[in-house]
Amino acid sequence: MTERLYYDDAHLMEFEARVLAVEKLNDSRVAVLLDRTAFYPTGGGQPSDTGTLGEARVIECIDAEDRILHIIEGPLPEIGQHIVGKIDRLRRLTHLQQHTGQHILSQAFQKLFGAETRGFRIMDRISEIDLALAAPCEEMIARAIELANQIVWEDRPIKIHYLAAREASRLALRREPTRGGILRLVEIEDFDLTPCGGTHAKRTGEVGLILARSWERAKRMTRLRFVAGIRALADYTQINRIAHRVALMLSSERDDLADRVARLLEENKGLAKRVRELETQLAHREIEEMLTTAPRRADGAGVIARLFPQRSPEALKSLALAARSFPKTVALLGSYEADSAYLIFARSADLDEEMNRLIERACAEIGGRGGGRADFAQGGGKGDLKRVEATLQMIACELLGETHKLET
Ligand SMILES: [Zn+2]
Repeated sequence: MTERLYYDDAHLMEFEARVLAVEKLNDSRVAVLLDRTAFYPTGGGQPSDTGTLGEARVIECIDAEDRILHIIEGPLPEIGQHIVGKIDRLRRLTHLQQHTGQHILSQAFQKLFGAETRGFRIMDRISEIDLALAAPCEEMIARAIELANQIVWEDRPIKIHYLAAREASRLALRREPTRGGILRLVEIEDFDLTPCGGTHAKRTGEVGLILARSWERAKRMTRLRFVAGIRALADYTQINRIAHRVALMLSSERDDLADRVARLLEENKGLAKRVRELETQLAHREIEEMLTTAPRRADGAGVIARLFPQRSPEALKSLALAARSFPKTVALLGSYEADSAYLIFARSADLDEEMNRLIERACAEIGGRGGGRADFAQGGGKGDLKRVEATLQMIACELLGETHKLET
């Protein structure tokens, strides 16, 4: 059984212990067992401590019932040897701030909205709590954050008590204990009392600051992402840097960014509309010009067959739509790039050729597929220029009932 020194002092960063065993685990990592340890093992949503044991690096600690396995990399200690363990201080402090912050936040939600905490995780840069809060809103989150920070700034003492489960059950615990025997209770003075085996601050002030980063509804609960202490500072620094960079790009002030971006988006919408109008006008002109030289059948129908290098599907579509608006017009349009070709066939409403049938055949010729309606169909295939040209020419000839040289 490993004595857990962090139970009584979460600020103990250096300790001496005796090596009881050195074991090779199934995954071939090496674990050291000590008679006592200040290393916190992974558990309760909190990642383990890291640090050093003698000359070796402790990369993880695992809770194996009543033993704590210190996974090490580096020189192996001797069994029976007395060894010095050192905890990575900043990592412990960061975790302790998030964990204590969670106790405070959880009680804030409990007191204000009767919302229990159902889950908690400390992740790489942020932490998450799952709250039994079915209909959250910005104002509720803001109120809980405000109360939590008030408790932090009141710098209330945090005490540890050991009590038999039966006696503890008579107290107003925030969370029911999950086991019997002697319980470890964590008390935030006149605010929160809950059974917990984790590492906590000595006073709430040590948490520094608690910030909500984002929240969302998940499985009829509210998942709140938050940062506390060192992480709150890191998060503020990052978001402030981003905001200033964006403000500089937009020649604006940081605090005016939301209005500035809203105006830009509005302008952008107007511009996009104008571009669409101009594209339509341009496509109309282009078709008008093509029709002046397009071959015509005896019934007066003009057949445009044109292949463009690297024209976007959108641009080709604008052209096809424009062609459809001219009377007695068929447009067989294509665009090709290195390895692919794109085709659109369209005709005016006063003709009756089935463009979908034609495009199916054309695409089959170039090793692809196509389909659509009788007056507008599209498809694609391989971008072999000669083959695409020959295919468009073949379809044009069929429509005209004569040989016709394709313009490119
Ligand atoms: Zn705790």
